[in-house]
Amino acid sequence: MGILNLFVKLLSSTSKSDPRQSRSSSFNASGGGRIDYNQLLKNAVAQLPPEAVTIPNIGVIEPICPYCHKALKKMPTRKTACEFCGNAIRVTKRPFDKKKALFTESQLSQVEELTALYEAIKKMPNNLRIFKRELNEYQDLGLTQWKFLGCHDERAAPIERELDGRVVEIGSEDEKRMLVYLVDPRYRFCTNAVIESRRK
Ligand SMILES: [Zn+2]
Repeated sequence: MGILNLFVKLLSSTSKSDPRQSRSSSFNASGGGRIDYNQLLKNAVAQLPPEAVTIPNIGVIEPICPYCHKALKKMPTRKTACEFCGNAIRVTKRPFDKKKALFTESQLSQVEELTALYEAIKKMPNNLRIFKRELNEYQDLGLTQWKFLGCHDERAAPIERELDGRVVEIGSEDEKRMLVYLVDPRYRFCTNAVIESRRK
């Protein structure tokens, strides 16, 4: 993480070479009226599946075996075999509150991913504010399209490569579909880049 991996680039209709696309982009899908991005972003968030926006409650902070649930003599501070069932109890920080907690082996493999997802979910309200402001600015400027430029970093989600270069018509059904991707915390697109690309 930490690498800016998403760039939304503005395109004006005059930069388009295909006249058919220019013509089709000269009006928006809402019939030429102003697009309510606040509502469109709310709709996009409402379409996200629960696993995109909720963190499972894994990890126990009491001295209880996460396998057999029996009370341990003391809280383990590192990898320990349960005195009752013999399973390997793993110790690390919980994704959502960073408290030291006990995990099964299989839960441990999810902790890093869930911690990253948790951080992305926390950033979502701010990202939504940025999207709303940016998209409204595009609209105010009379632009008809924007372009998604994905990153080719090997850590980028496959969806980011897939969407790379996608030109989105403002006010189109395609834009609504794109917003669902952009607000999904699981992909961790970096919205800071939206602002950065405008400053360049
Ligand atoms: Zn046990």
